[in-house]
Order: sequence, then structure tokens, then C-alpha cells
Amino acid sequence: MDPAALLPTSSGSGAGPSHVPLALVVGAGFGGPTIITVPFLFEELWQLCGRKLSDDIDLRLMDPFYRVRFDDGTHFDYSGDPERMRTEVARVSPDDVAGFDKFVAEADLCYQLGFEALGCKAFDSIFDLLVALPSMARMRAWRTMHGLVASYFKHPKLRMAMSLQTLLIGGNPFSVTGVYSLIIALERRYGVYSAMGGTGAIVQGMVNLLQARGVPLRCNAEVKRIMVEDGRATGVQLATGEQLSADIVVCNSDTAWTYRNLVAPEHRRHWTDQRIERGRYSMSLFVWYFGTERQYTDVPHHTMVLGPRYEDLLTDIFQKHHLGEDFSLYLHRPSASDPSVAPAGHDAFYVLAPVPHLDSQTDWAREAESFRAQVQGRLERTLMPGLGRHIVTSRVTTPQHFHDDLLSFKGAAFGMEPRLTQSAWFRPHNRSEDVQGLFLVGAGTHPGAGVPGVLMSAQALETVLPPLPEPMWPMTNPMKAGA
Ligand SMILES: Cc1cc2nc3c(=O)[nH]c(=O)nc-3n(C[C@H](O)[C@H](O)[C@H](O)COP(=O)(O)OP(=O)(O)OC[C@H]3O[C@@H](n4cnc5c(N)ncnc54)[C@H](O)[C@@H]3O)c2cc1C
Repeated sequence: MDPAALLPTSSGSGAGPSHVPLALVVGAGFGGPTIITVPFLFEELWQLCGRKLSDDIDLRLMDPFYRVRFDDGTHFDYSGDPERMRTEVARVSPDDVAGFDKFVAEADLCYQLGFEALGCKAFDSIFDLLVALPSMARMRAWRTMHGLVASYFKHPKLRMAMSLQTLLIGGNPFSVTGVYSLIIALERRYGVYSAMGGTGAIVQGMVNLLQARGVPLRCNAEVKRIMVEDGRATGVQLATGEQLSADIVVCNSDTAWTYRNLVAPEHRRHWTDQRIERGRYSMSLFVWYFGTERQYTDVPHHTMVLGPRYEDLLTDIFQKHHLGEDFSLYLHRPSASDPSVAPAGHDAFYVLAPVPHLDSQTDWAREAESFRAQVQGRLERTLMPGLGRHIVTSRVTTPQHFHDDLLSFKGAAFGMEPRLTQSAWFRPHNRSEDVQGLFLVGAGTHPGAGVPGVLMSAQALETVLPPLPEPMWPMTNPMKAGA
């Protein structure tokens, strides 16, 4: 979805002039998520609106969740079935089966302490951090994800297969905290799903929920400035110059971009330009969407196509900001489960390559086609022979798109990197540290990127929002009421 402003208007009670919105929600979008985990978070959202998720969205469980293809052509099918997982682990390295069980227990602990207890917490004050410290200690949060995995698995292939999950939320397994092993526990407990009709079907479902509740929604309305008077947010100014007043402003635009570009420096004592520049930002992505006039039936719905390097490649991407010649890929073939996304006999794909954010100084306008051709070559040599002859549609997006169109600082695809020193209380707070009446939500806030993280950040946000005049939106379900 393009830059947008959701404009919940006044119900009339306690509002000022009739066209003055009570709250503005800046930014709403969905550009890419395909691996849907923790579906109950969506179910809760639908229930709040008086509907059942399954009425609107057809989520299908993936089995296996995904395939990890190693550079030597062997693969590891990752699923939620403990017995099958043990068999897969034993196929790669019989000595690692006992370690697998212990790792799963550790991931479960992180799930209980990290997800259940701290996941939806707003981390509004230092006190919230202090309260969380014993749990962080029990989870030994100082260990990196890869360090944790390596303490249970000896085989390098298994170390890759069991640690790469943090890349799905923009975190380098060699620097993010091992607390994110909770992702493994989440996937095992709740499964990995795909939405029939694509992620767009989820977006459309959410739009329907909002519209059914009478929430006005404006697309293609870029916010250029958050208006602040006497330290308090008073509304936003759009790129067109139009000004919208509000009692509070809620942003789910990229947090670094929001502070750096939308809030004037004189209103920022905490999130100064220097602090934002000093931050560490996640990788970006090169995404190539393409369709073929033949089907690749051997290619599962989700495949991680790993390259020859792991740690060195990630160091190039995250620390050196160097665009290398090799890459690891995530290949998405939605038509494997959902024939509606491609014409009969055709296939739909996207493939993404983690790449450095714009500090790499890559001129993407010049490099995009040659990079795409390299990705195509890699797919031809691994899973999709003859691919070039069968492509019928093709589109790429680069880090420049994340910067220029999605307004992401440095073109990072997942906002601030979720390393320990940029997590929880150290991440931008839901209640702005700088501007009263300004609230942030989404990937740039706790707990971080990824669809479940974003939905949980909305729950955290709710705990710090001021009471709004009730009912802001119709509380009864207009669909049921036949409205
Ligand atoms: C290619 C890709 C694949 C991914 N795959 C997965 C996956 O499989 N599973 C998973 O869980 N997560 C995945 N993620 C991560 C997940 O999609 C994100 O973490 C999540 O969408 C972030 O949600 P958000 O609401 O914080 O921000 P976004 O979804 O980025 O939405 C923010 C919106 O705000 C708009 N905006 C920004 N600035 C302004 C402004 N000034 N005025 C108006 N609008 C503005 C942006 O254009 C954007 O539309 C993926 C991400 C990418 C990029």
C-alpha cells in the first residue's frame, strides 16, 4: 500500500470543529510479508471488530513450513512436527538430535519470558526495563542468536537452518539476541501460514474492517511534517500543504524517518539527528517479482536458497555495507498452494535477496538489472533450470524504493536493527519521548519488525494511549447490524 494517512474522524463528542479529526494514524502498508505466523494475533484483531478472521481470510498451514536448500544441493525441511524435525536433524547430523531437543526447550523458555510476558509491553519508562531485567537474565539475553544455536548444534548446516529466522525480522543472527529463538517456539506452537489471494487479501480484509467501522482512510497522502506547538503534537501537514489538526498523532511510519524528517529538530531532545545517525539499521532487500509460463512443481511454497557464505555474507551486508557477488535468497512460490495467483499452467514468484542498506552507496538505478540477472542465474543453476526462457512478467524493487517510496531511513527494510542495545526500552517508545500527544507503533517500536511484532506493538500502544472520547468509532459491529 502506498504512503497513507488513516484519518479517524470525530464521532462528535468532545471534538472541536466538525472536520477536525481526533486522531491521525500516519502510515499503513504491507509490502512483502508472506510467512504468516501467530495467526491468533489477527484473530484477536478481527474479534475486536466483531468478526471472525476465517470469515474474511483463508489462511493455509504450510507443511513443511519452509525448505532450506544448502549450497551443496542438499536440503532441510523445516516443520512443526517434533518427530519429523528430529528425523531431518538426524539426516544432516545424527549427533545433533539431543541438542535439538535442548534447543527447543530453550526456545520455549524465551517464548514464555520474552513473548508471553514482555512481547506486548510498552517499555514506557526505565522502570519497565528494570522489571524485565530478571527475565532477560534468565534468557541470557546477551547471547546472540547464532551463539545460542551453536551451543546446541555442531553441524554448520544446522547452525544456519536454526538461526536464519531472525533475518525474517531484519536481524543478523550474529548480532541479535538469542531471545529471538522464541520465533522457533512460535512457529512450532502456532504454525506457519500463507494467505490465499496473497498478503493483499489480508490488507483488503483490514481495510474492510476499518471501513465497516466508519474509519476514514486516505491513501497516497504523504505526511511531510508533524505539527508541534508548545511541545505537543497538534496534527500533520501533508505533501500537498493541507493541514490536518488532531488531538493525538499515531505514526506507524518508519521511526527513524519520522523523527529525522517529520519532527523539526527543535522539538527533539531525545531523538536528535546525531542519535538517529548513530543507530544501527537493518538490512535492505532486493525483491524480484516474476511470473513464468510454465510451472516449477518441485519448488515448494517457501524456500531459503542459501549461498556458499553465511557469517561473512552477513558481515558484508550488516557491518561493511558491501554488496557482494554471492547471496542467499528467499524464494516464494505462492502458486504452489494458491492457483488463483497465476493463470493456469503458470507460476507466480518473488525472490528476495538481503542486501546492505543505502550506506553501501550502490547506485541501484544502474545496478538493478545486473543484480537481477545474477539472481536469475543463481536460480537457474539451483532450482529453476531454463528460467530465463519462461519469464512472462518481471518487476524489481531495490533499497532505493524502500527509501524513496516507502520512506524508510537509509532504505532499511526492517527499520532499526533489533540488537539488544536497540531493543525494548532502547527502541523508540510508543509514547514519544520528545513530543506530547505523539505516539509510535509498528516495526520501529518494541518488539520490532515482522507481522506478529507489529500487531503486538499495537497492543503495547493501546496501554499508553490517552483515553479517547467514547465511542470514537461505532462499537457495535455495523456489518452484523446490517449497516
Ligand atoms: C519484502 C519483505 C518481506 C517480508 N516478509 C515477511 C514475512 O514473510 N513475515 C513477516 O512476519 N514479516 C515480513 N516482513 C516484515 C514485515 O512486513 C514488516 O516488519 C511490517 O510490514 C512492518 O509493518 P509496519 O506497519 O511497521 O510498517 P510498514 O508495513 O512498512 O507500513 C508503513 C507504511 O507507512 C507509509 N509511510 C511512511 N512514511 C509515511 C508518511 N510520511 N506519510 C504517509 N505514509 C507514510 C509507508 O509507505 C508504508 O506503507 C517482510 C518485509 C519485507 C519488506
